[in-house]
Amino acid sequence: MQQKEVVVLGAGVVGCAAAYYLARDGANVTIIEREAVGSGASGFAVGLLNPLMGTGIPGPMAPLAEQTFQMHKDLWPEIEQASGVDLQTRELPHLQLCFTDDELRQARVDMARWNASDGFSAEWLDPGQVCKLDPRISNLVAGAVLLRHIWILDSYRLTLALLQSAETLGATLINGEANGIESDGGQVTGVRVNDQTLACDAVVIALGPWSGQALTGVEPALPVAPLKGQILHLEAPTEPFRYHMAGPGQVAQKADGLVWIASTEEEAGWDVTLTQAARDTLMARAVKMVPSLAELKIVRQTACLRPVTLDRQPIVGPLSGVAGAYLATGAEKKGILFGPIMGRAVADLVMSGKTALPIKPLSPQRLQR
Ligand SMILES: Cc1cc2nc3c(=O)[nH]c(=O)nc-3n(C[C@H](O)[C@H](O)[C@H](O)COP(=O)(O)OP(=O)(O)OC[C@H]3O[C@@H](n4cnc5c(N)ncnc54)[C@H](O)[C@@H]3O)c2cc1C
Repeated sequence: MQQKEVVVLGAGVVGCAAAYYLARDGANVTIIEREAVGSGASGFAVGLLNPLMGTGIPGPMAPLAEQTFQMHKDLWPEIEQASGVDLQTRELPHLQLCFTDDELRQARVDMARWNASDGFSAEWLDPGQVCKLDPRISNLVAGAVLLRHIWILDSYRLTLALLQSAETLGATLINGEANGIESDGGQVTGVRVNDQTLACDAVVIALGPWSGQALTGVEPALPVAPLKGQILHLEAPTEPFRYHMAGPGQVAQKADGLVWIASTEEEAGWDVTLTQAARDTLMARAVKMVPSLAELKIVRQTACLRPVTLDRQPIVGPLSGVAGAYLATGAEKKGILFGPIMGRAVADLVMSGKTALPIKPLSPQRLQR
């Protein structure tokens, strides 16, 4: 059989995962990226892999979250070996800090659900136990839940490792700007890159928040928008933090030694400037959780754009009206977690027209109506 020519648009985590699985399945893959691998949100995310929280969990996203979490663990040794990139994976228990009665009530409900999930365990901590766990946590904490078996990794390294593993299987990265899709009789025939045409049998659109923009001429328009997120990185403390702490903000010490404080959610269009307002907000939230963080120097601030859909769930599936065009985008705050399942599912669709993965809730048609 003739090798399938597939073009993947975007070298973020979703595009690189799709490229890797497609190359593994025998397609001839070309990846188009206008900046650099991981130059969007995929290179700057916290890298937390928590399948028990987020939009649609509990709900339609829960089975997908569970499966992608397992897929990560299967994928890591494979791509670390193929690429030589250390993903800096490690287990980092999640500590949900509660300050109000409402938060305490919600945490008890969440704890019961987390304990009912295979492979996880959660325990209740009263304020004294929280203080014993880490005396730097605020004494205003009214209680907490400690959830074990959550993982974190470096999202840039994951994206790079996926790309390089795809390249070891014959995929090629081209630096260029995708600015349209060409079709003949309703079938994709090529992609316009820097205004030249690259012929292909299928195209995977994985351009994150820009996914709608590259589709000029394709109707109906794609409802994907940017949601800005800023993060602060603080210098390493003398004593490391051993938990991912969540409350008014998120605090986690990463393998780079720095303490990451995440993250803003700003509807600011395509703007990615770093702002003093974000710095103040993030620090105020973090200091409420761990007052001594105020003493650590800020060494870096980042801003990037999450891809957001109308119902805040990803889009994976064929684009209606153009056979051979597939979408994989919109994972918003969970794209690092969902990258493998989105990549695997879209690769299945390209190669065989079907997938056994539970992606029905992600169909593009739900938003194109
Ligand atoms: C502050 C913050 C923290 C986050 N933390 C987490 C977390 O802890 N866990 C988690 O699971 N998720 C997290 N996320 C979400 C995650 O980062 C995103 O959902 C994910 O990175 C989106 O990946 P993507 O491949 O869809 O898009 P992107 O990473 O945006 O990749 C799209 C790529 O397409 C390229 N591109 C755009 N237009 C063109 C064009 N015309 N031609 C060629 N190339 C083009 C861009 O340069 C970019 O490289 C976080 C996000 C933010 C902002």
